[in-house]
Amino acid sequence: MKYKRILLKLSGEALMGDRQYGIDPKRLAEYAQEIKEIHDKGVEIAIVIGGGNIFRGVAGASNGMDRVQGDYMGMLATVINGMALQGALEEAGMQTRLQTALKIEAIAEPYIKRKATRHLEKGRIVIFGAGTGNPYFTTDTAAVLRGVEVNADVILKGTRVDGVYSADPEKDTNATKFDYISFEDVLAKGLNVMDTTAFTLSQENKLPIIVFDMNKEGNLLKVCEGQTIGTTVTI
Ligand code: UDP
Repeated sequence: MKYKRILLKLSGEALMGDRQYGIDPKRLAEYAQEIKEIHDKGVEIAIVIGGGNIFRGVAGASNGMDRVQGDYMGMLATVINGMALQGALEEAGMQTRLQTALKIEAIAEPYIKRKATRHLEKGRIVIFGAGTGNPYFTTDTAAVLRGVEVNADVILKGTRVDGVYSADPEKDTNATKFDYISFEDVLAKGLNVMDTTAFTLSQENKLPIIVFDMNKEGNLLKVCEGQTIGTTVTI
């Protein structure tokens, strides 16, 4: 395996499957199997999951809600997704721990870096819920932050698209996919990989990001093996 310890970022929307909202148990079970494949090969796995399938603070704010209130609701949505994913991973036979940036001690450990690292060393999958614990941030930023903190080798951003393109492939037929691109070129070309805060944190800490299609069976394993799947962003 090319990567010994990964931080996998899944968006909340990815959990919807074919639904318009919420969580699709079939999709959860599929993800659990993909994750099991790399777990069986000894990869240490930390996961940050989004909440967009349930609630986004920005959406709340645009409907007149207080932004900070909305963001905390968004963070709680990521905990719900984290619990769902935890259940699916355990159903598939893996040991897990959920750690949250906001304390909800009846259901999750509080985030403690040293504990998280120990769990990873013992082969437990650690899911980080409640984002960074702060409003005005995203789960992409939480993913990079936790990735840096636990010394992950790479951030794997599992999405519904198969990488970073020169333009929006749905609008521009000449759009081409990058296999590799530097952080600087992403900025120079104005491409969208992650929000600026997340992206800069990754760049400053020289933590590569791989954007890949998580919905294609076997892709996660291939990425961990070091095959050229998706787009790798490096310094
Ligand atoms: N959020 C936040 N702080 C964080 C992470 C998330 O306030 O550190 C809130 C924010 O409102 C965001 C929502 O949680 O809209 C869900 O996260 P995100 O939109 O990143 O989820 P995804 O797009 O990955 O599903």
